[in-house]
Amino acid sequence: MTTLLESPPTLSALMPTYNRFPVILVRGAGCWVWDDQGREYLDFVAGIATCSLGHAHPRLIQAMNDQIQQLHHVSNLYHIPLQQELAAFLTHHSCADRVFFANSGAEANEGAIKLARKYAHTVKGYEYPLIVTAQASFHGRTLATLTATGQPKYQKHFDPLMPGFVYVPYNDLEALTKTVLELEQVAAILLEPIQGEGGVRPGDWDYFQGVRRLCDERGILLILDEVQSGMGRTGHWWGYECLGIEPDIFSSAKGLGGGIPIGAVLCKEQYNVFQPGDHASTYGGNPLACRAALTVGQTIEELGLLAQVHQRGEQLRQGLKALVATYPEWFQEVRGWGLLQGLVLQPSAPFQAGDIVKWAIEQGLLLVPAGTQVVRFVPPLIVTEAEVQMALERLGNALRR
Ligand SMILES: *Cc1c(COP(=O)(O)O)cnc(C)c1O
Repeated sequence: MTTLLESPPTLSALMPTYNRFPVILVRGAGCWVWDDQGREYLDFVAGIATCSLGHAHPRLIQAMNDQIQQLHHVSNLYHIPLQQELAAFLTHHSCADRVFFANSGAEANEGAIKLARKYAHTVKGYEYPLIVTAQASFHGRTLATLTATGQPKYQKHFDPLMPGFVYVPYNDLEALTKTVLELEQVAAILLEPIQGEGGVRPGDWDYFQGVRRLCDERGILLILDEVQSGMGRTGHWWGYECLGIEPDIFSSAKGLGGGIPIGAVLCKEQYNVFQPGDHASTYGGNPLACRAALTVGQTIEELGLLAQVHQRGEQLRQGLKALVATYPEWFQEVRGWGLLQGLVLQPSAPFQAGDIVKWAIEQGLLLVPAGTQVVRFVPPLIVTEAEVQMALERLGNALRR
C-alpha cells in the first residue's frame, strides 16, 4: 500500500482545480467505499458532509428509481408538488416560513445575499447595503460567496471582488459590535454557526446570543450559513439550535439531498421579499432533487438519526480526546458538534492535517482536512458504533506508523 499515494492517475482534459488523492472510488455501500483495485475504505468524508444516508441507501435508491421513471425534471414555469412538500417539511422542522430551492451551497448563499440586499434596498431604503462576514469563514466559490468568504487565499487572482462586504474575527462580539456601530447601512451579518472548512470552530453560545441581540437592536438581518452544519449533522436539524438563537435567513445544501445536488435558502415570513422574476434557477428544486431531500429528511426522522448522531458524535469525540491525551505534543484539542468533529494539531506538530489524511488512506480510512491544522470527521449520519470504533483504530494505526 505504500505506493498508493505516489502514482497519480494519468492526465486528463480536466482543469486541474483539485489536488486529488490518487484513489479512484468505484462503489459504495453504507459507510464503506471501494476503489478500482478492490481496496476497502471506511468513509468519514461522505462526499464532505453530504452523503448523510451513506452510499447506496435502499430508501434513496428506491426513491430515485421511482422518481426518475415518473418525472425527473420540469421547469419552474409549472407547479412542482414535491417542492411544496419539501418546503413544508423544512419549514415544519425549522424556524423558517419560506424556501427557495437552488442546487448547491454557494448558490443557496447567493440567494440569501440577494434576499438580504433586496430587503435592505426596498424595506430599509439603503443605497449601499453592507454584509458583515467572519474571517476564516467559507461560503462558496461564486464571486459573491467567494467575496463573503473571509479567506484571502481563495480570493487571490479574482479581483475585482463583489463590493459590499466587511470582515470581522469570528466569535468576537466586541469587534463585531465596534464594526457595526462604525458603519452605516449594515444590511446583514452572515455567519456559520460552526465554521467548517475554516477549521471546525464552533460558535460560542454567548457570542451568538450577543449577535442576535445586536441584530435585533439595529434592524440587521442575521443570515446563517447552514450548508455544512444543517440537516442533522450536529445532532439537531440545524446548527443554530446548538446556540439558542434563530436566524432570519439561512442556507442549506451539502447533507440536504444526501448526495443528490440541491440547496435551499430559507427565511422567516417578514423577510420574504422576493417577487416573480427576482430570482430563479433552471434546475433548482427539480422533482428528482426534491424527492431525494424529502427521502433524506423523512429517513432521518423515522430512523431517529438525530439521537444517534449525538451518541456517535460523543463516542468519536471521546476516542479523539484519548488520542490528544496520548500525543499531546501533536494535538491540541478536539472540537465540534455531533458528527462534525475536528482534531486540532499543535502549531509545532512535525506534520500537517493533510499528512494525517494520507496516512489514514493507507490504513483504509477516508478523512478530510479543514485547513492545514485540523483533521475533519464527517461520516454518514448512519454510522454505527462499531464503525466509529474501527475508524478510531485505523486512525491510531496511521499515527503509530
Ligand atoms: C461547502 C460549503 C459551501 C459551498 O457549498 P457548494 O455546494 O460547494 O457550493 C458554503 N458554505 C459552507 C459552510 C460550506 O461548508
